[in-house]
Amino acid sequence: MTNDIRVENGLRPVINVSGTMTSLGASIVVPEAIAAMTAILPQFVEMNDLQRKASAIIARLTGAEAGFVTASCAAGLSLAVAGTITGPNLLAIEKLPDVTTPKNEVLVQMGHLVDYGAPVEQSIRIAGGKVVVLGQATSAHRYHMENAITENTAAAVYVVSHHVVHYGLLHLMEFVEIAHARGVPLIVDAASEYDLRTFLDQGADIVVYSGHKFLGGPTSGIVAGRKDLVRHAYLQNKGIGRGMKVGKESIFGVMAALEAWEKRDHAAVRARETGYLHLWKEALDGRPGVTALIEPDPTKNPLDRLRVILSAQEAHISAYDLAGALARGTPPIIVRDHEAEHHYFYLDPCNLHPGQELIVRQRLIEELEKAQASNEVLDTPHEEWGRHRFDALLRWPD
Ligand SMILES: *Cc1c(COP(=O)(O)O)cnc(C)c1O
Repeated sequence: MTNDIRVENGLRPVINVSGTMTSLGASIVVPEAIAAMTAILPQFVEMNDLQRKASAIIARLTGAEAGFVTASCAAGLSLAVAGTITGPNLLAIEKLPDVTTPKNEVLVQMGHLVDYGAPVEQSIRIAGGKVVVLGQATSAHRYHMENAITENTAAAVYVVSHHVVHYGLLHLMEFVEIAHARGVPLIVDAASEYDLRTFLDQGADIVVYSGHKFLGGPTSGIVAGRKDLVRHAYLQNKGIGRGMKVGKESIFGVMAALEAWEKRDHAAVRARETGYLHLWKEALDGRPGVTALIEPDPTKNPLDRLRVILSAQEAHISAYDLAGALARGTPPIIVRDHEAEHHYFYLDPCNLHPGQELIVRQRLIEELEKAQASNEVLDTPHEEWGRHRFDALLRWPD
């Protein structure tokens, strides 16, 4: 841990087995992107030209007609929505989030109104969109969508994520079919999806991705799709997009990350990650109250995670408390614990530096053996979890 820039700066040297999390600094930026950013930073460039070059690379990798880079996927979603409301009208663009047309309704299935760190619906509202909710949390049918489309419908938004409800909702192909039958453009939020082509192939008009998730680019968002809609989204840089400004380094960095993605040996990466899962599973198998299962990604990205299920009575520690102990320990290990109330968390193998998999293994064993040796059962009641959740944030910076 010596020579760790984080320790030198008084930061905890966290190990990330939770996935690409904004709260942890997203992903490991690939060397190609770091080199590209370093090279462009001291230079002046004409930004619209740089974005034109980015457009060509985005088009090549996604099959889109055009694309551009913005601050984040959330920004991309707002800009794409804004573009469907304002079109190329520069005055309307300046007026946002006030809208000068009644045609600002944006359709979203209720089961897609999730929180990715901020609410999906807010990213639509700040663009002047009025969210029209389709169906209920776990059910949306054709009739919900068909009856919701009016002359005031500007767009429909479809979210692909582990956060959304995964049953009872309209599939993308149906969503596309219904939207296109009435001329409604369809925006897909695919922030965290490996597949750069499927959603456009399936008929989406615009797709937005994060540059800093699986791609390993700098913090950024990628907007790709139909040329007129991409242009209208791009023009928002003269309006609400200004606060979502992206620098030359992020544009150039994400271009390099895309090209590196194209050349990456994806099978070798996956084999290495699968090796970590087996290493951890072998260390956990047979321990009292612990079950470890290798499971595929819920949105079908080509990766697996290790699901660690705890029986608190037998293991003497609950999934929630084990996640907490690992996060407080040295070094801190941050697991994927969104679903801890169901008595499990996941270990995500995608954001590790070589050797860290062994530290993760060792820390798991240490905490489980400590719990096993104790006569107490650590099982914080669920009703206590939320009570102090935001205390530290609300006291920030102290
Ligand atoms: C991460 C995520 C976002 C936000 O992406 P940023 O690039 O961090 O703004 C939006 N939607 C989904 C589904 C996400 O997973």
